[in-house]
Amino acid sequence: MDFLPLFLQVKNQRCLVVGGGDVALRKIRLLVSAGAIVRVVAPCINQDIQDFIAGNAFGSRSHQLLTKPFAPADLKDVSLVIAATDKKAVNQQVADSARTQNLFVNVVDDAEIGNAIMPAIIDRSPVMVAFSTGGKAPVLARLLREKLEALLPQGLGRLAQLAGDCRHLVKAKFSKINDRRYFWEKVLQGDVAEQALAGNIKQAKNLLIQQLNETAEQKTGEVYLVGGGPGDPDLLTFKALRLMQQADVVLHDRLVSDDVLALCRRDADYIYVGKKRNSHTRTQEEINALLVNLAKQGKRVLRLKGGDPFIFGRGGEEIESLSDEGIPFQVVPGITAASGCASYAGIPLTHRDHAQSVRFITGHLKNGSYALNWQEMLDPGQTLVFYMGLMGLSQICQKLVEHGRDPHTPIALIQKGTTPEQRIFIGTLANFAKTIEQEQVKAPTLIIVGTVVNLHKKLNWFVPG
Ligand code: SAH
Repeated sequence: MDFLPLFLQVKNQRCLVVGGGDVALRKIRLLVSAGAIVRVVAPCINQDIQDFIAGNAFGSRSHQLLTKPFAPADLKDVSLVIAATDKKAVNQQVADSARTQNLFVNVVDDAEIGNAIMPAIIDRSPVMVAFSTGGKAPVLARLLREKLEALLPQGLGRLAQLAGDCRHLVKAKFSKINDRRYFWEKVLQGDVAEQALAGNIKQAKNLLIQQLNETAEQKTGEVYLVGGGPGDPDLLTFKALRLMQQADVVLHDRLVSDDVLALCRRDADYIYVGKKRNSHTRTQEEINALLVNLAKQGKRVLRLKGGDPFIFGRGGEEIESLSDEGIPFQVVPGITAASGCASYAGIPLTHRDHAQSVRFITGHLKNGSYALNWQEMLDPGQTLVFYMGLMGLSQICQKLVEHGRDPHTPIALIQKGTTPEQRIFIGTLANFAKTIEQEQVKAPTLIIVGTVVNLHKKLNWFVPG
């Protein structure tokens, strides 16, 4: 981060603007609208500035127009400085003088000279959105602003104002911060918000008070069992994202990518319940109990799983214990590794000319061997997808061939599919185990067996990194 984003209270503070042209006028307008008292200094101050100041004169501490060149003495009693002249040397002089007095100074169109930048803004006061590109691409900031401008309703300020007016009522009703948060989330997205945005403030306020009276303190929370997909955060569903952003606690494990995790609510509590990373691994029973306990404390708990929670994710077991305890839950499907990896590797799992069915199989070894029904995996028109199969790869290839699948059947291993570290290895059942032995493969990996793998050469489109 090159600059610290901050909103300044400049009401009744003296702010200096050096410059007497149109650029200066824009800054003067902004400062005055935020309640600042401006001092404008320039050898020549244009008529528009003079008119604007005359039209905004107030009180004893009024705005000042000083028709003269800038001098360091102009910084007296000033809390913010803006250099808005078209002369680089003057801007530099203003910035130097300001800095020696430890004042923040914005130099218009020259972020390098100053140490404060003015963002592009969307003003829905009291809601304010500010964009900055650190002075690198002001046009980009403006374009972003235009995009968001269309998304943010004009009445947003009214809604925020209403929320501000009713804050004390909500605080008085709910002692727990979570209850207040749930209430606001409901109100700010429901009928109350609709009415406020439409300008019916009185109605919105009545509705809010009615809902406040009707809402009881929360006793039990809820669990969201959410599929986080195979890695690429763009593959999350809208519902997953919404629940990720409202959960109070996040239970995640090794398969959930950092990029996906970064989209959860920032101030939520995070609990890592994965295997491997630390020695204090939680058993499945402990995870189930933790989910129940947290929900009983009234929390909204996000159980975030890699891929889809109902495909080799033990999601079923986790919600069974919730159901036993009468705890409400929702399940949100995610893109399972088979779909994600296949798409990002250009390997369609079914194809009219190659495969009429697809089978997802656990490749997890039990006591070093497999108890799988290999006879059911011999149909050349069936694509096989092995999850967790890296350790047992040579056995998988060997067993398939032993039971009669053609040794020339193509096989693919996809490492960290859909992520910048995706790598794809291709071979045949006959030679693949040897090929992979020589590679430094990183988990997680997915194995696809079948002639659809041949399509990778032509359909591969994803360039990782
Ligand atoms: N519920 C998950 C699967 C959990 S089992 C899902 O639906 O995808 C864990 C296995 O999933 C891993 O051993 C690996 O085989 C596979 N897997 C998950 N994410 C993967 C990824 N990004 N790339 C390759 N394989 C992945």
